[in-house]
Amino acid sequence: NSDLELIALTKRYGETVAVDSIAHRFKAGVYACMLGPSGCGKSSTLRMIAGHETVSDGSIVLGRRDVSHLPPAKRGTAMMFQNYALFPHLTVQDNVAFSLRMAGIDKPERHKRADEMLELVELTALAQRKPDQLSGGQKQRVALARALITRPQVLLLDEPLSALDPFLRIRMRAELKRLQRELGISFIHVTHGQDEALALADEIIVMNNAKIEQAGPVREVFNTP
Ligand code: ADP
Ligand code: ADP
Repeated sequence: NSDLELIALTKRYGETVAVDSIAHRFKAGVYACMLGPSGCGKSSTLRMIAGHETVSDGSIVLGRRDVSHLPPAKRGTAMMFQNYALFPHLTVQDNVAFSLRMAGIDKPERHKRADEMLELVELTALAQRKPDQLSGGQKQRVALARALITRPQVLLLDEPLSALDPFLRIRMRAELKRLQRELGISFIHVTHGQDEALALADEIIVMNNAKIEQAGPVREVFNTP
């Protein structure tokens, strides 16, 4: 596993500077939470790392590879969205295996890897259901399995828990932490919740006005014992 480094990373939309030359090194295997007011550039940063948004300036390096201009599937990153974005007509198993189909991997291998992922998120029993037969928390876990099946080194999560009720949110929180530890990969998790960040993060990054205002271990940033 490798460190992820952002070097003078910048995003402009026309006249708007959404991300203004930020620099940061995410250590391999870190759980990082990104906080900051709405519009400060968190999502744009995640989307650039994932390759869902072009980089205006600067670069993104994962290990020894400059991934700034690679297509999303070639970067070693994966992204999970708050609205799940599941395909309604596909079963849970096929939803999870979807990116492998795109990559041209054959059906037996796809199903084998999808089943491994479903086991990891404890959804084996629901493999043949359609998304509309799942609860919010279950959909969330399908989305997680779908992102993880590509074996990313870095998982990017954009407010993954915001659509869940408070009870489920706490449970999914524990689930995310368990998975991150078990897989030993880096998670970069954008959240509005300070409590969420405090519960999950090894490291906190605070953005404000398109810049990184503060970054460091939880204790340092929140000034807790
Ligand atoms: P956050 O995730 O912190 O809420 P965003 O990265 O979504 O911040 O947005 C940062 C700034 O960039 C905001 O001013 C927002 O309006 C602008 N922005 C984001 N996406 C686009 C886009 N696709 N086109 C134009 N402006 C955008
Ligand atoms: P968030 O703040 O959670 O990142 P937004 O609601 O700001 O999400 O953005 C949702 C979508 O709208 C994103 O795809 C983003 O690129 C786009 N978007 C955000 N702000 C603008 C904007 N000012 N102009 C055009 N598209 C935008």
